[in-house]
Amino acid sequence: MGRLSFINEELTAMKEAGLYGNIRTIESPQGPWVTIEGRKVLNLCSNNYLGLCSHPRLVSKVKEYVDTYGVGPGAVRTIAGTMSIHVEFERRIAAFKGAEDAMLLQSGFCANLAVIPTLVPSEEDIIYSDELNHASIIDACRLSKARVIRYAHSDMEDLKRVLEETKGQGRRKLLVTDGVFSMDGDIAPLPAIRELCDRYDVILVVDDAHGEGVLGRAGRGIVDHFHLHGLVDVEVGTLSKAFGVMGGVIAGRRELIEYLRQKARPNLFSSALTVPDVAANMAALEILEESPELVERLWRNGNFLKEHLSKAGFDTANSQTPITPVMLGEATTAKEFSRRLFEKGVFATAIVYPTVPKGKARIRAMVSAAHTEEDLLFAVDKFSEVAKDMGVL
Ligand SMILES: *Cc1c(COP(=O)(O)O)cnc(C)c1O
Repeated sequence: MGRLSFINEELTAMKEAGLYGNIRTIESPQGPWVTIEGRKVLNLCSNNYLGLCSHPRLVSKVKEYVDTYGVGPGAVRTIAGTMSIHVEFERRIAAFKGAEDAMLLQSGFCANLAVIPTLVPSEEDIIYSDELNHASIIDACRLSKARVIRYAHSDMEDLKRVLEETKGQGRRKLLVTDGVFSMDGDIAPLPAIRELCDRYDVILVVDDAHGEGVLGRAGRGIVDHFHLHGLVDVEVGTLSKAFGVMGGVIAGRRELIEYLRQKARPNLFSSALTVPDVAANMAALEILEESPELVERLWRNGNFLKEHLSKAGFDTANSQTPITPVMLGEATTAKEFSRRLFEKGVFATAIVYPTVPKGKARIRAMVSAAHTEEDLLFAVDKFSEVAKDMGVL
């Protein structure tokens, strides 16, 4: 085992440093309440924003499609994996989002890997990246040979500075930002970013993973939220959060999508999304096309939880979305807080360094349209009890 001995050493070191993740197993369908270790607990840490993960309409659409089309796509999209259901979904999600065209990928992670290295592949290119961007964006930037310049989080003065410093340099330039930042729940200032991108001739890419199905009219996303249709070059989205399934989407101009279909490596070398995934996504899209009701309920619940947590004395920072950080400071405090909440029937994970800066550890409470006000008041009660027991308020 000599050549693998580093593994045990590193695992032990992670455990000693409190950086070893305790991965819990859900024994029931995903929903506002889930079963863990045989016990029903209130789920406050899922990205299942609209409660669609186990929605009966998604389930029945999957059965219908599987009976008609089978399960697997059998190939990559560019060889023999493109099925009529993929094309139909792409047409409909593009129309929903008000984009000329859209492309379906296996995940949001794959969508970033498809966009960034394809559009700016060369050493001569430049990428501007928000310092808090998601790991999949960071990895996509690494796969490109472009020079990566980080700017301070959503700081337009700092962005202007780096754009000015690199004026006249580089072949192609691309800026990429999360739409909604997942740990704080703040929204990127997209209109200001677009103006700067226009002024400095930079391709604008927004990764709207936490905005898809959440922001805009009936969840049409961040471009719709800011009324920037046709003005953002590439909108990346995920179907694994609010849509409740799995998959990634890239929306933009027709020729841009055509180019990515021909050249993006995740589209050329990894098989198409499976039939059940496409079916469930189609049903989720139909639900959003029909009514904004679930999205409205999500926002009502988010505001309700924030209001009651603040009233109880908690600091929920500057979230502008249903993502609700409850700031606790030290990592050990946040972890102990989460452990005690779980004992009281509330499942809400602690987020600590290196996911967030040192001293900014928190519990990130994620509400869903499927929660009732009673559920959320139960959560606030338990947060207050734990805070009192630990003397942290
Ligand atoms: C969750 C997330 C992803 C990954 O999406 P998947 O569909 O789960 O692969 C990508 N980007 C951002 C900003 C995310 O929050």
